[in-house]
Amino acid sequence: MLALAGYQLGVEFRFFDPSSGAPVGQIGQLIAADYGDHDALKRFLDGLDVVTYEFESIPLSTVRFVADRVKVFPPVAALEIAQDRLLEKSLFQELGIPTPAFAPVDSLDDLQSAVTRIGLPLVLKTRRMGYDGKGQAVLRDEASVERAWKQLGGSRLLAEKYVAFQHELSVIGVRDPVGREVFYPPIENLHREGVLRRSIAPAPSATLETAALAIDYSRRLMDRLEYVGVLALELFSVDGTLLANEMAPRVHNSGHWTIEGAETSQFENHLRAILSLPLGVTTPRGCSVMLNILGHIPPAESVLAVEGAHLHLYGKAPTEKRKVGHLTVVAQTMEAIQPRLWPLQEALGIGRDEL
Ligand code: AMP
Repeated sequence: MLALAGYQLGVEFRFFDPSSGAPVGQIGQLIAADYGDHDALKRFLDGLDVVTYEFESIPLSTVRFVADRVKVFPPVAALEIAQDRLLEKSLFQELGIPTPAFAPVDSLDDLQSAVTRIGLPLVLKTRRMGYDGKGQAVLRDEASVERAWKQLGGSRLLAEKYVAFQHELSVIGVRDPVGREVFYPPIENLHREGVLRRSIAPAPSATLETAALAIDYSRRLMDRLEYVGVLALELFSVDGTLLANEMAPRVHNSGHWTIEGAETSQFENHLRAILSLPLGVTTPRGCSVMLNILGHIPPAESVLAVEGAHLHLYGKAPTEKRKVGHLTVVAQTMEAIQPRLWPLQEALGIGRDEL
């Protein structure tokens, strides 16, 4: 999606991915090699002006190797922090961005003291390499404490207060190398089993004050990190306050609606930022709902028959629960979108009450 937004600006692309079957090979030159393969990385870098990434679990050593040779945005420091939940939450705290109560856990003793200090229920998460709810356990009672320790105890962990939030929000900011910033309005996200299923933009539940606060938190982070590119910040909305869950130093699934639903998409704005081009207007074109397509590819006819619906397939082989695409429906009001959602959910095999 980054490349599709960039070709029309006259930008040329080369891609690096460990898998030779990576879908991006369908649209441009792909160098497929291990992240540790320095010769392949050098071939990849030959003649490039700038490198960006859209996946967080790339080894830091690889990104550093690249950054020693070619400009890399977003900055490596942002990736380093986002890869470690403890560094991430500590940065939020330092910047005055509220978070759920948390504690590092490296032993069963640490976990017991976190239970005492923070109280149950708790969420236990691996500090590194967790995404889409993987590497997490919810601890509701004493019995689940040892069970969770057995499940996750091999890794360095973070215990967090389980937050009974009303809504999950995200805010997407864009910053360029001289510090100009633009923000999309906060988005309301629905997850199931840790996986994003639906985004609504602008977030119907966000008041002007909530939206301004979310944007202020995003600005604090981007300024501190001297950030360049798109940054997503995920927040829990609970009783009128916002608690930061995590940040993603990349274009974000909850921003996919911007392709049709905003004046400038997050993908184009990410490229504009890293190429020092003027940033684009982020104003929404009405209301948007984005649904992720998981596990199977719906018939294009039934999606496209719905007024205002747009289909995006990623060229991935469908396997159970794999994100293989998304669809977005845009209209002037949420009331106009509502009746169009059911046929779209039906096309995706999502029950009426499932979301
Ligand atoms: P994460 O990988 O941290 O984004 O977590 C995936 C999803 O799990 C989030 O989007 C939430 O729906 C849920 N989750 C994570 N942390 C918490 C928490 N502290 N309290 C309640 N739900 C959580």
